[in-house]
Amino acid sequence: MQPELDTAQFEEILATLREAVATLSPYNLTLYRRGAGEPAVSAKFTYCASRVHDPVSNELARHFFGRDLTGYFEEATPTVCRYGGAFIGFVVPFTHRGDHFCLVGDGVRDTSIDLWQLAALSRQGGTDVFSLFPHVETLCTSTAREVENVARAVSRELSRLSAAAQQHREITESPEPASPDLRDEAEAALVNERLAEIALFLERVERARSLAATLALCADSITTLHPGAKLFAALREDDGANYELTGLWGVPEDLGKLPAASLGVFLDREKLKTTVPFDTPMRAALPGIRANLATTFPLESAGERLGFLSLLDCDLSQNDALVVSMLAHGTGSRMGQVLKEAEQARASSLSGRLLSLTNTLLHVGSKDELYKTILEIAADLLNAAQGSIMLIDKNGETMHIVFTKGITLHIAQCLPMKVGKGIAGKVAQTGQPLVVNDVEKDSRVAMINRPRFKSKALICIPLKLKDKIIGVLNLSDKADLAPFTDADLQLLTSFANLASLMIERTLVLEESVRFEQLSVTDSLTGLYNRRFLKSRIEEELNRSNHQGLNLTILFLDLDFFKNYNDICGHLAGDEALKRTADIIQGTLREMDTVARYGGEEFCALLPGTSKGEALIVAERIRAEIENERFPGEHNLPLGRLTASCGVASFPEDGRTYTALIHASDIALYQAKANGRNQVVAANAPKGEQAPQPAAPPEPPPQPAVARTFDFNSYLEATESLRQKG
Ligand code: GH3
Ligand code: MG
Ligand code: MG
Repeated sequence: MQPELDTAQFEEILATLREAVATLSPYNLTLYRRGAGEPAVSAKFTYCASRVHDPVSNELARHFFGRDLTGYFEEATPTVCRYGGAFIGFVVPFTHRGDHFCLVGDGVRDTSIDLWQLAALSRQGGTDVFSLFPHVETLCTSTAREVENVARAVSRELSRLSAAAQQHREITESPEPASPDLRDEAEAALVNERLAEIALFLERVERARSLAATLALCADSITTLHPGAKLFAALREDDGANYELTGLWGVPEDLGKLPAASLGVFLDREKLKTTVPFDTPMRAALPGIRANLATTFPLESAGERLGFLSLLDCDLSQNDALVVSMLAHGTGSRMGQVLKEAEQARASSLSGRLLSLTNTLLHVGSKDELYKTILEIAADLLNAAQGSIMLIDKNGETMHIVFTKGITLHIAQCLPMKVGKGIAGKVAQTGQPLVVNDVEKDSRVAMINRPRFKSKALICIPLKLKDKIIGVLNLSDKADLAPFTDADLQLLTSFANLASLMIERTLVLEESVRFEQLSVTDSLTGLYNRRFLKSRIEEELNRSNHQGLNLTILFLDLDFFKNYNDICGHLAGDEALKRTADIIQGTLREMDTVARYGGEEFCALLPGTSKGEALIVAERIRAEIENERFPGEHNLPLGRLTASCGVASFPEDGRTYTALIHASDIALYQAKANGRNQVVAANAPKGEQAPQPAAPPEPPPQPAVARTFDFNSYLEATESLRQKG
């Protein structure tokens, strides 16, 4: 049998809790006691007492928790629960005077209200959701984290109450004073609580992703253990000259920056980790803080001082100080890790970004597009609204703007600048970058800021290839008119190296294309090349069209030239090509154009020449080639190195370059098919050909691969070359 319920006692528990835990004020509190044995579900927990501000949400909480709290009790830890779509609350199981209880806190809500869940609830329970909704909106809002903190504070207070009740019973029931065993037990419970707090902190802090989150977790644990304490943190800035101060609990949040020297009073060796009076020097350093006691703990990571934590107005025992020191230690190492991770992320995101920028730049089509892309990327990297790229001219003395952002390009492009003069000119001369944050005050510049710049800050980076300076990249007007930083300089320098490489690559490529385009001759034979021939033919076609003139082209190809190469070698082959070129050129007039069309193919343009006239010229060329003595030629299928020729004329065989080349090529093919060493006119009826010499006997069939050459022919050909050379 359970003892009779002492209602007053329960009311007192709730009242004590309310007083001890200030954050409990918005909650409804309901206390349930667990029944003995295995009673029916509805009787497992008996309602003992409640303090209710908000009956509606309390009704809902009863709906959820009043029926069965067994699961929560078995977990034996404070639990945060969401229920009914919008509500959030806690259940804290505890033991008091040998009885098992559950305290339910409700009456606050989550920031978001899930209407669907509320609607589902109304279907089950017949609640009118819509009339409930405005009411729910008036409730205090809370996060799961805040509810958890309240629940933990409640749980601690309940343990304290139980311990006190136990002690009270010991004292009233036995005349003996509390045994040392019991005191030990209370001490052990306290130690356990601290260890649990440290374990919880260490587990949570692993997940902290920022310095602020790490400090918040540390503050949470410290204030859990020492609810009365005030707390602030001081974090060293990069250069170590200043500390950034943040109030974490019970002190103003934004305490600003202080020079490291003035905070030395907190960091005296003998003052660390022990509670000392908040003395006059401390007061002078932090006039915004009122306190009587201070205990300071260094925040360190791998031996490096990151800052410190100070607990104010909390007289810590040696053990307490040890525990806080452990928390500070965990905080410092996590902060070190967070900083390292941030640095790594920055470096890898930077290198990833530069890599993707390289890719972007590699795929840019033209020079102008490249400049535009470079400037856009640079401006984007530094958040700058204006900028320009200047390249040093070939003379090395002047430079020109090749692209701008935020400034009109065509005006800027006209202005040549002297290398060595002005801001960019100096950077181009010295190769040293320049970061100026006030053009008017900086002695290196000292000029009136021009009205088109909103900000007086600018950054000027040389575009360099090793030691060669090719130009300058300028940026100005950073977003929010902020100054350019060292990090900006570093970032832009890395990017400028990449940009310089890409600019140089594009200029070299362009130069080589231009060079190729400029050349009109073939290097082996000295004849014109195919591109030049095309433009000449087009020119002449144009003229012929207007003036009604004839125009003829000859397409000539050496016969069995592959065999000649195979038999006599490529050098002899080259020599034969040059000889052929001379023969063709020597036979034609000044006004005719001869080009090497491809390997052993030649093409001649004969303006103002009819097909009949051209056929005679072509035949003369063919005969000259046949009669020329080429070393080693007797091993060729025809016993001689010969040529075949196709002839086509404007207008009858075609009116365009392509049509004429095509027609002459077909005629050439016909000449080859007819047995080679002959001239064939385009579109000539079969048999009507250029005057032919007595046809040589058809050569005996050749093996497909004519590599069965005679070594003597090879020697003959190379010997004649040797004598010439
Ligand atoms: P076909 O009578 O049918 O014209 O036979 P072919 O062997 O002359 O014809 P093909 O087009 O098969 O071979 C042309 C050869 O010309 C192939 C290559 O070895 C040679 N050739 C092309 N350019 C050069 C060159 O610059 N120097 C030398 N030595 N040979 C070249
Ligand atoms: Mg050929
Ligand atoms: Mg050939």
